[in-house]
Amino acid sequence: MKPNKSNFLMTFDSYNGGFDKEQTTYLPVLIGDKVVKYENELATSLLDLLNNYDKILKTLDKYLKKCIEQKTNEYSELIKTFGNLKKEILKQSNNLYILIYFIDILIFDILEIQNGNLYIEDEIYLYCANYIFSLKEELANSRDFALSTFFRTYNITGEQLQYTGDMEKDFYASAYETFTATQLSLPSVDIKFDNVEYNSNSKEKMEPYSFTYSIFSIADLVNVTLYHLKKNERAILCCANCKKYFVPTAHINIVEKEDSDKLEKKLIKERNTRVTCSNDCLNARRKEKTKQNLYGYKKEKKNLRDSLRNMDKRHNTHLLEEFDLKFNKKETELLNKYGSDNFEIIEEKLLQYILSIKDDRKK
Ligand SMILES: [Zn+2]
Repeated sequence: MKPNKSNFLMTFDSYNGGFDKEQTTYLPVLIGDKVVKYENELATSLLDLLNNYDKILKTLDKYLKKCIEQKTNEYSELIKTFGNLKKEILKQSNNLYILIYFIDILIFDILEIQNGNLYIEDEIYLYCANYIFSLKEELANSRDFALSTFFRTYNITGEQLQYTGDMEKDFYASAYETFTATQLSLPSVDIKFDNVEYNSNSKEKMEPYSFTYSIFSIADLVNVTLYHLKKNERAILCCANCKKYFVPTAHINIVEKEDSDKLEKKLIKERNTRVTCSNDCLNARRKEKTKQNLYGYKKEKKNLRDSLRNMDKRHNTHLLEEFDLKFNKKETELLNKYGSDNFEIIEEKLLQYILSIKDDRKK
């Protein structure tokens, strides 16, 4: 069976609560007409690409190296090798059919070369190596584009930028408003409208309920995903705790009894300013924050020094100077006792010291 290169279909289905289902129908090139279907949440494939990027790249590199070092032009050997590559990719995630599809096209090409239907000038192993190399490049470009669309701290080449703004706000919680793409090229699409119970007296507009795209490249997958994220007022966020990329779906702490317009805005804001991906990460982050506050002696020190400075001005005293001398002595003592590596203990002791001075002053 000659595969049709457009047979990687993806539909975005608007049934049941907005466009949040992504269905991908995948027809493996080598297994006749057997159809493997899978269904998942919007953006799952893209998120898996982003979250497994390093692992995938390493795997592709391994096979690229194998190709170049073994220099084999044996058809069966090459087909076996890329069959193993497919298995390894699928072990990393169930949502990476897009990559499997492209490896299948390579395997199909090898068969076409063997059958004399495809003529190449290079040796076959070089053809394969170039193919894997291009796949890597496309993966890198797509990742960079997706990240630069939602994260101001990334530039278009995916490098993290030196950033002086509010990292918390801009990096960990890039809301969908920060979407910066100005142009997305979408592949051809088949749109179905929901007109089952449509009657001509109704003023209600017919809404599209399904989009079927023919995906030709990883860039297509990324563009379609970004378009539907934007359309659904959703964003890709980066978890402040585990650093994984995620698209928030569920809502927390919102009682759905307000009028719908206001509620809708609140729901969008709540999910797109989320800082962590799960309850576990939220709890871990709370713990971390509490710890930071515990060791926040610098803030307490600044407050105390400010108030001493004011006292000195008003009463012509030298309280600040006295405090600084005492504090420095205490710090040196602690450093000598615990060593500079034990900064957590030292900072806690300094915090206690400052708080005790504050307490004394209140008496
Ligand atoms: Zn997380």
